[in-house]
Amino acid sequence: MARAGLPENGEVAPDPRPAPPDLEVLRRFVNSDNRFYGVDHLRGEDRGRWFPEVVGLPVDDIDDAGWRRLAVLRDRVRAVVADEDDAMAALAETAQRYPLVLGPSGLASARDDQESAMATTVLVALHAAIQDGRLARLRLCQRPDCQWCYYDTSKNGSARWCSSDPCGDVMKARAYRSRQRAAG
Ligand SMILES: [Zn+2]
Repeated sequence: MARAGLPENGEVAPDPRPAPPDLEVLRRFVNSDNRFYGVDHLRGEDRGRWFPEVVGLPVDDIDDAGWRRLAVLRDRVRAVVADEDDAMAALAETAQRYPLVLGPSGLASARDDQESAMATTVLVALHAAIQDGRLARLRLCQRPDCQWCYYDTSKNGSARWCSSDPCGDVMKARAYRSRQRAAG
């Protein structure tokens, strides 16, 4: 899908509203559904490349069924971030697949596979965000063709866009990255 306004050789701008480090994996997981560019990185052929690059977890052992389950998990986590009705109940049902144990470094996956490790990492971050109220700061851009997940650091928690100039620069950068990936 072609979009207008892509920089021909511009610098890739940093995401202007990242989350605190312990929530960044959650924010990036939600943004694997890139609605601006119409790319779902968990359902696309670049998933094995995209995920280690953006989230930093190994994925080489995850099979097709595992990716499908992770995509469903992502959809449900995204619905929780969007504060949709009954989203938490739907997520709880999906999360039953990924039991947790308490270990020396906190909550960890009870299962020893990459799919469970990724799901657990995301769910533990979501749990932390719910516990201390930061979930409310994790928002989806209100521009309908963007819906990028960002972390709102504004004083009164009322930011509506993923970037201050409604979406302009950061969206171009994201499109640019996607195009480079498609070309490469
Ligand atoms: Zn936006």
